[in-house]
Amino acid sequence: MRKRKGIPKLRIKARIPSKTMEKDLIGKAKLLRDDPELIIPECVADCGFCPFRKTRVQLERISRFKDDPAKLAKLARRGDKLARAYAATIGLVHKEKMPYLATATYPGGTVAYALRGKTTKEKLIGVQNFDSPKWRVLSVVDLVQKKGLHFYSYGDKFICTGRIAKPPEDYVRSASESVGASRMEGDSYLCPHNPLSSNHIEFDWVSSGKKVILCDQCAGKAKNSLRKLGEGMAVPRVIDEFRISVGRPLRDPAGSNECGDLLNAPVDKDLLSQYSEGRLGDKELIDKHMEEVRERLADVQKRVFVRGDRCFGDDLEAFVKDISDDPTETESLKGLLSNVTHPVVVDSGDSVNKILATYWSDHGKEALRAVVSEQLADKFYGDGELAGDSPIKVIRLATQQAGLDLASSKIPKYAGLSVYGQFADAVARSFKTKGQTAAVAVLDAEKSSDHRIRSMAHAFYLALGIGTKSWKFTDEEKAYGAHLEVFAKGLLESRSSDDHHKSLVEFLQQAGSVEEVRKI
Ligand SMILES: [Zn+2]
Ligand SMILES: [Zn+2]
Repeated sequence: MRKRKGIPKLRIKARIPSKTMEKDLIGKAKLLRDDPELIIPECVADCGFCPFRKTRVQLERISRFKDDPAKLAKLARRGDKLARAYAATIGLVHKEKMPYLATATYPGGTVAYALRGKTTKEKLIGVQNFDSPKWRVLSVVDLVQKKGLHFYSYGDKFICTGRIAKPPEDYVRSASESVGASRMEGDSYLCPHNPLSSNHIEFDWVSSGKKVILCDQCAGKAKNSLRKLGEGMAVPRVIDEFRISVGRPLRDPAGSNECGDLLNAPVDKDLLSQYSEGRLGDKELIDKHMEEVRERLADVQKRVFVRGDRCFGDDLEAFVKDISDDPTETESLKGLLSNVTHPVVVDSGDSVNKILATYWSDHGKEALRAVVSEQLADKFYGDGELAGDSPIKVIRLATQQAGLDLASSKIPKYAGLSVYGQFADAVARSFKTKGQTAAVAVLDAEKSSDHRIRSMAHAFYLALGIGTKSWKFTDEEKAYGAHLEVFAKGLLESRSSDDHHKSLVEFLQQAGSVEEVRKI
């Protein structure tokens, strides 16, 4: 390890002040020199215990020495901490060269200040930024903690309401405006998007008797609306000033009010404290809260269906029709949800697969049974090889299999076929139960040198639309095959059991295979 030597590193970041910052700070120091009252909050309540009377006496004494830099430097090291910051700051007027500015970072941003005297950095920042509603409250944060005082800073006002939380009307209005709630309706400040009838977050500002209500979109814009509302406040616990709730009004297309307050539940205390500490933003708070609300629905014994902001009551049919118009999807959803006894709540953007996946472990078999036979449902539901596949894929595979099973049930079974009969039967059966690729595989695997078999193969290739295999055949086989194509096609495309049989007999006759084709 390398030994550290020399001066220990300064923890505070310092930087050379720019000309404007310098002029700015000197200008403010001059104003303060002539008017110490600028940094003293205005007590509007019964504030007999507020310490500002004592501070004021000290400030007046300091300003008597405003032209004596040495005395000011001394005064910046003793007495009331706010008074020290004052002495240190007005002393800057006498400096020929500006000291380095330090910066400090808070949740509300980064601020620069001249590090002078012997006091706290909050006092220095507050005094030197007495013109900023956001920063000047820092000069009193220690009083908030020690004495339980309440301060509100906005515009050119810096108000103390003593031990009672009582935000001035103007503060409430400008704070509400800062989060986008500038429309007043009754006792509420609202964002412009009619938030009460859509998803919203509500800040019931208990100490002010007002409410601030934002739609989810507006709440998402401010990273943390509570922090923004409390930006000019210095109070013991900002979160205690508000009752925060998340509103999820539900519309009911059928007119009944079966869902009511289904999704309106109190926000968990733990989430609220994470939010007030700034560890969660509005969006995260809302998302996490709604996650909890939905989890709790599993314990509610009530059969209702909700999609987005619409409540369908217990009308499962209307609910699934709203999600999809594909018959397989709607039938499987109905099967899936037929035995669910608690509320089912999905987002309007949720896919069918997502909904299936949510209930698959408990009700997947019922979803499959709604679209295929019980036997197939049990087979596909229990198939370990499909365990990693999405529910919608398992359903598609099961219905495909059901379709093939149906096709094979329509193909007669034969006994005693000649090699020609067996070949034609194998090709047709593969095509109908497994599809084109399987039929081609049967053809490709046929290595017989028998001209009749080879002509039949050529005919099937042509009937399947495959012209690239002609090189395999002699001219004679090609000609014969071309003649047989239409009969091969007839066999492949036959639908009913009877048609299949007739087509097979005709194909074999045309191919010159004289035999009795016998069904079993
Ligand atoms: Zn006061
Ligand atoms: Zn809005």
